Amino acid sequence: MNHGEIQTVTGPVAVEALGLILPHEHLFTDLRGPLAPGYAQADPERVAQVMAPHLKAAHAAGVTALVECSTVGVGRNVAVLRRLAQASPLYLIAPTGVYREAFIPPALREMDAQALAERWMGELMEGIEGSDVRAGFIKLAVSDDGPTPLEVRNLRAAAQASLQTGAVIASHTASGALARHQMDLLEAEGLDLRRFIWVHANLEPDTACHLEAARRGAYVEFDAVGAAWQPQATLVEYTLALIEAGYAEHILLSHDAGWYNPASPDGQPEGGIRGYTALVEDFLPALRARGVTDELLHLITVVNPAHAFALAVG
Ligand SMILES: [Zn+2]
Repeated sequence: MNHGEIQTVTGPVAVEALGLILPHEHLFTDLRGPLAPGYAQADPERVAQVMAPHLKAAHAAGVTALVECSTVGVGRNVAVLRRLAQASPLYLIAPTGVYREAFIPPALREMDAQALAERWMGELMEGIEGSDVRAGFIKLAVSDDGPTPLEVRNLRAAAQASLQTGAVIASHTASGALARHQMDLLEAEGLDLRRFIWVHANLEPDTACHLEAARRGAYVEFDAVGAAWQPQATLVEYTLALIEAGYAEHILLSHDAGWYNPASPDGQPEGGIRGYTALVEDFLPALRARGVTDELLHLITVVNPAHAFALAVG
């Protein structure tokens, strides 16, 4: 087991104290973009009322911590996160970073990589927006036809901030080619790819790309567990392919589910809020039925996310 701490919304937690961790979920997300009137605004009390039952259900299923991936540009709201952490039996982990090109707030567009890295280090080491709530990782995104010049700057800034703090970089990535591009860039900045999570690796059907990323050291995240749009049998096959190739310790599994939508009068996203229990209730049993041992399932759902999100440097 890794020795280190995960920085949660309510403070640092020793990784040994945690069990199953969901590495990619959403609690409060605003996809209208930072220029929309009312962007990322909601009554924290109301958000907690709507989301607490989903957090309690996840806890009842055995989840101990949840990583909120709604980063700057898609709704991050520190008051909401603080209230949710009070209402939640789960530890919550907040992001620093910024979403893809179309969602970068004007103030961040003007900064150079060094200034941005310093801002993100401040959020990881001191607090977000003057609060004492610290971010626990760096969440980025690249455009499907990117990375754009600003997204390249974001990756460079993230590499600097990660090298200084040990924080992992998780990047929304729509294809294997984009994953390779980012891994090349981050390595050129001196980053050990064990500090990189290929988010949405399940969007890339070529399992050779998954294997390549794992071989280079990255975490390969299949985060459409329980999603209606992705056949779950396909996710099972992707997971088995990595296990069989000897890369179980690079697998992360999550739902990419949620969330409270401040753009909607009742807080519901399109299609309603999807909860956080399909992994435990359906997906792990499906892997078990294919011969995956409980030891390996523990590695994938407990040890891997603990290693990924622990802030220990080196
Ligand atoms: Zn997501």
